[in-house]
Amino acid sequence: KAPLLEVNHLETAFKIDREYYNAVDNVSFTVKPRQVVGIVGESGCGKSVLSLSVMRLLPKGISEIRSGEILFDGKDLVKMSENEINNIRGKDIAMIFQEPMTSLNPVFTIGYQLQEVLLNHMEISKKEARQKSIELLKGVGISRPDKIVDEYPHQLSGGMRQRVMIAMAIACQPKLLIADEPTTALDVTVQAQILELLKEIQSANDMAIILITHDLGVVAEMCDDVIVMYAGKIVERTDVDTLFYNPKHPYTKLLMGAIPKMDEDREVLESIKGIVPSLKNMPKVGCKFAARCPHAMPECSFVTPQLAETEQGHEVACLLYETSRPKEGMNVQ
Ligand code: SF4
Ligand code: MG
Repeated sequence: KAPLLEVNHLETAFKIDREYYNAVDNVSFTVKPRQVVGIVGESGCGKSVLSLSVMRLLPKGISEIRSGEILFDGKDLVKMSENEINNIRGKDIAMIFQEPMTSLNPVFTIGYQLQEVLLNHMEISKKEARQKSIELLKGVGISRPDKIVDEYPHQLSGGMRQRVMIAMAIACQPKLLIADEPTTALDVTVQAQILELLKEIQSANDMAIILITHDLGVVAEMCDDVIVMYAGKIVERTDVDTLFYNPKHPYTKLLMGAIPKMDEDREVLESIKGIVPSLKNMPKVGCKFAARCPHAMPECSFVTPQLAETEQGHEVACLLYETSRPKEGMNVQ
């Protein structure tokens, strides 16, 4: 199947003191129609910057796509005008955020906000939009949608607000949904319900999903393929079963050990010592994980591992694997 989304050698940088630092560093991946691709890593690994790049929603003036392409249905989103991207955003590609970042506007009713999305992208009357809003709310499992449609965001619970966000996101039946930590702010029971809803919608609407999360439990539940990111780079990529049964990158293995149990506090990833280096302190050569890696070898600080297939369908960037070593004649950077 031809990919729906094809990201090639993407570099997205932030400008700090007049210098550019890559938050997304030479990232390539594809998403096929209907596929659910998980992107995992701790905060600061570039997951959200990657999704904002695809949506062309990077904060202006301080960040920009420096190189690479983002082909959606064969067209490069990077090269599109604001107008062109506005036609695609919210219609063919939609996004949902973690609750604290929701784009629900507190001063407008739920119905008004849903209708805005519909009227923006569809040739329908206000009356039809209102009717469709009610149907959408019903579709995401909101009871009494005819009442909720006239309520304001603060009148709803966190879980219901996230359902409304999902209704807004799927209003125009996008081909791709980008979900950035969609359940992180919710309690465990509601989290499970929202994931279940996303799964149902995904298969009912033939939609692909990029699911961004730090939670491998969510990945196991939802994803076909998984990309593990560290410090702006992809360090491992494979299908979900392989990732769980045969993780190869030391960072992935540590993330595995950090899967929270359902009955524990959702304090995640505490078992990995140290923190993701900040953009300014990112090592320029060698493996970016070296400072925290339990298997680090002396060469890891000056040889940059390359993402390459170690087994069919399983890519890893780590010098423990022969395939990640820069080939002879290649510039060791
Ligand atoms: Fe660890 Fe070296 Fe592999 Fe990096 S390249 S993950 S430091 S063993
Ligand atoms: Mg994030």
